Amino acid sequence: MQARDILSLTPAGLYCPLADVHIDPLRPVPRALITHGHSDHARAGHGAVLATAETLAIMAARYGEGFCGTAQAVRYGEAVTLGPVRVTFLPAGHVLGSAQILIEAGGLRIVVSGDYKRASDPTCAPFEPVRCDVFITEATFGLPVFRHPDAAGEIDKLLHSLTLFPERAHLLGAYPLGKAQRLVALLRQRGYDRPVYLHGAMERLMQLYGELGIALGDLRKVEPGGRESLGGAVVLCPPGALQDLWARRFPDPVAAFASGWMRVRARARQRGVELPLVVSDHAGWDELCATIRETGAGEVWVTHGEEEALVHWCTREGLAARPLNMLGYGDDEAEAEAVAEEAVAEPSA
Ligand SMILES: [Zn+2]
Ligand SMILES: [Zn+2]
Repeated sequence: MQARDILSLTPAGLYCPLADVHIDPLRPVPRALITHGHSDHARAGHGAVLATAETLAIMAARYGEGFCGTAQAVRYGEAVTLGPVRVTFLPAGHVLGSAQILIEAGGLRIVVSGDYKRASDPTCAPFEPVRCDVFITEATFGLPVFRHPDAAGEIDKLLHSLTLFPERAHLLGAYPLGKAQRLVALLRQRGYDRPVYLHGAMERLMQLYGELGIALGDLRKVEPGGRESLGGAVVLCPPGALQDLWARRFPDPVAAFASGWMRVRARARQRGVELPLVVSDHAGWDELCATIRETGAGEVWVTHGEEEALVHWCTREGLAARPLNMLGYGDDEAEAEAVAEEAVAEPSA
C-alpha cells in the first residue's frame, strides 16, 4: 500500500477512502476529522465530526450547537479505529484544542499537521513531534525570510510604548481565535495585571477560553460611549477594526497589530500600523525545517502557503516532496479581516 492509497486529494480536501473520512473538508461531507477551530479548517454542515473537545466547543460557539450531525470528542493520544485505519490526535501548539492527525494503515504512518507552531504558547498544549513515514505540513510562512522573534520581546515593545505614551489608548489588532488569547496570556506572563479591554468581536471566544480553563485575568468590554476614557489602556480588536470609525473615538490611539506578517514592513505601513508586533501562531522557516527533520519522514507533502520553497528545501535534503496546491485554506490575516467585517455588520458588536 502507498500513501496515496491512504490519503488522496479531492475537491472537498484530503480524503481517506479506507475510513471514508475527510480531513478539514472545505464543503459538507458525511464524516470529517477537524484539526482546529479556525474557520477555513472547521466548517459547519458535516455529518459526523471527530475532533478534540476544545475544537468542538469552538465550533459550537461560532456556528451554534447544530453545527454538525453528530460530534465525537477525542483526547490527545487516544487512538480511534475507523475500519482498517487507526486515527490519533496529537497536540499541534497552534490554538487551544489544535491537533495533528496521525493516520496509520497498511503499515504506514501519515501525519497531517494542520496548522502548527513550535514557539511556547500559554494557551495551548505544545506541539509534539511524531515519527512518521509521510508528513503533511502547512507552509504559511515557508520562506527563509520568515524567522519569528521571541514573542515575549514583542510584548515588551507594547509595554514599553505604554510607559512612553501613558495617555494614549493602545489598540491591539489580533485574530480573535488563538492570537488574541495568547497575547493576553503573554501580557500576564510579563506582569501586566491591569484590565484588558475587548472589542465586541473578541468577547465570545475570550469567554469560551475562560470556560475551558485558560485564565486570562481581568477582561472588560468596551462600553458604548466609554472609549474616550480609555487613555493608557490596552484594547484588543480584530485587525480590520484598526481602520474603522470605531478606532477614532479612543484618546490619540496607537494602532498595534500582532501577526507573523508584521515581519513585512510594507504590510504594516500599508495598514497604518504604528506598532507592528511579530507574533505568529504558525511555524516560521526554521521551525518548519526542524520539524520535518524531527518527524523522520522520508516523504513530505506541503500545503497552504509558500509551498515551492519548502518543497525545494526538502528535495535538497533528499526527501521526496510535493506541493498539494489545495485551494480554500486562507491564512489568519485574510480570515481576520472577514471576521472584522462581520463584526462591523452586526449592530451588537
Ligand atoms: Zn489555523
Ligand atoms: Zn490554516
